[in-house]
Amino acid sequence: MSTPRLRFAPSPTGYLHVGGARTALFNWLYARKTGGAFVLRIEDTDVERSSADMVTGILDGMRWLGLDWDEGPEAGGAHGPYFQSQRLARYRELAEQLVREGHAYYCYCGTDKERPDGPAFAGDARAAASGGGSAADREGGEGGTPRGESWTYDRRCSRLTPEEVAAREAAGAPRAIRFRVPEGETAFRDLVHGDITFDNAHIEDFVALRSDGHPTYHLSVVADDIDMAITHVVRGDDHISNTPKQVLLYRAFGKPLPAFAHVPLILGPDKRRLSKRHGATSVTEYRRQGYLPEAMMNFLALLGWSPGSDQELFTRDELVAAFSLEGISLSNAVFNPEKLEWFSAQHIARMPSPELVRRVEPLLEEAGLWPVRPGPESPVAGAPGPAIAWLARLVELLRPRAKRLTDFVEKGRPFLVEHIEYDAAAVQKYLSSPEARAHLAAVGEACASVEPFAAAALEPAIRALAGSRGVKAGALVHPTRVAVVGRAESPGLFEVLELLGRERVLARIGRALRLGA
Ligand code: GLU
Repeated sequence: MSTPRLRFAPSPTGYLHVGGARTALFNWLYARKTGGAFVLRIEDTDVERSSADMVTGILDGMRWLGLDWDEGPEAGGAHGPYFQSQRLARYRELAEQLVREGHAYYCYCGTDKERPDGPAFAGDARAAASGGGSAADREGGEGGTPRGESWTYDRRCSRLTPEEVAAREAAGAPRAIRFRVPEGETAFRDLVHGDITFDNAHIEDFVALRSDGHPTYHLSVVADDIDMAITHVVRGDDHISNTPKQVLLYRAFGKPLPAFAHVPLILGPDKRRLSKRHGATSVTEYRRQGYLPEAMMNFLALLGWSPGSDQELFTRDELVAAFSLEGISLSNAVFNPEKLEWFSAQHIARMPSPELVRRVEPLLEEAGLWPVRPGPESPVAGAPGPAIAWLARLVELLRPRAKRLTDFVEKGRPFLVEHIEYDAAAVQKYLSSPEARAHLAAVGEACASVEPFAAAALEPAIRALAGSRGVKAGALVHPTRVAVVGRAESPGLFEVLELLGRERVLARIGRALRLGA
């Protein structure tokens, strides 16, 4: 078999959404696993609905997930992706070829834009699905037969005499090119669904090239998949109904079919099709929320694919090694945000420390928390070693409770600012009584003298202090925590104290004692 060649072919009419990213991932994984090629092709022939911003958003999402593509025209030192809008001449040429060879005919019935039944549309199954009709229903022109709210073209232009054609041409009537669907059945084998057969009687003579010279989705997708020598078309289930038309085009062009694999839909937890009502659907939104791309990739891979074992956690390389088209399931996948969070926490837990620090640093910078200002007040001033080593200690301290990268910003804040904010409820609960303040003052004294100022020495000192004051350690620990981080929760207090350093701990205890005093 020839080397596999796969593609991801998004229409830039929206950002990279979770379903699209999952489709891209399956194609990418198979290409990487087999040593094949992964092509990215932007399907932007629908000028009105496409935008450059969306293209940027899609590319950003792909890069963030690490889904690199292999080829395409040179662009700013990098290559690709391909843009369908740059290949319009090719589609026209192929459409004319279809007419010449008797597979298609000119149609003067007007474009879908002039039709009485609604908005212009180019045969994108996804939007068609949400609009309630099949993509084919929306093609065509006047002279169709009403079928509910949609039209089926009655093929009147396929019966025009040469004189009638000449008359229309002379009048300058706009003409589309319509595919002549033959009688019989159209069958293809799907790697996920098995053999699928459609009765051609239900397939309309669809428009391949519109009168404005733009191809419909069916023509451009087949033209590109042929020209780009695509061997496997892995895409969403919602494209199954488009496939027979595309199969007919392959046959008309005399080209072999690629292998088709239609992957199941992604549903929300309520088992309805995943949409904004279930939360974020754009991949970059998950990036903004602090999810690791590794976690997102791991999570997406298991939406509709199974490795055939119980393994859930995968690195990128492990996914590449384990992936197979046979593992794609028939049943729809459910998007569970809690599971994504779990994957995120697991990948954070497993990431080597320097790498985790490298990911956290820019987020701290963005929040204005890093690098810390130099000087005696700086949190890193008294710490041994370079500032980055101190940051690595902070990251390690926060790691066990972190579910997302943003947790490091939120939970790291008290360590990185000079003046912390005190949570009123925590102060009220743990610092308002005279006993609590007396305990805190005693901890302050102990902290002033304990040597070294390290968790291993602080813990026994503070526990002994609690004993001598006749209280449980918690009676000292809680007020101290609120005093030094301003909150009722933190990682283990003794490690927190050590990382903050003696100077800052004493200053914060002093300030807390004056709070509301
Ligand atoms: N542009 C199509 C879409 O975004 C892709 C169709 C395909 O993969 O064949 O739905």
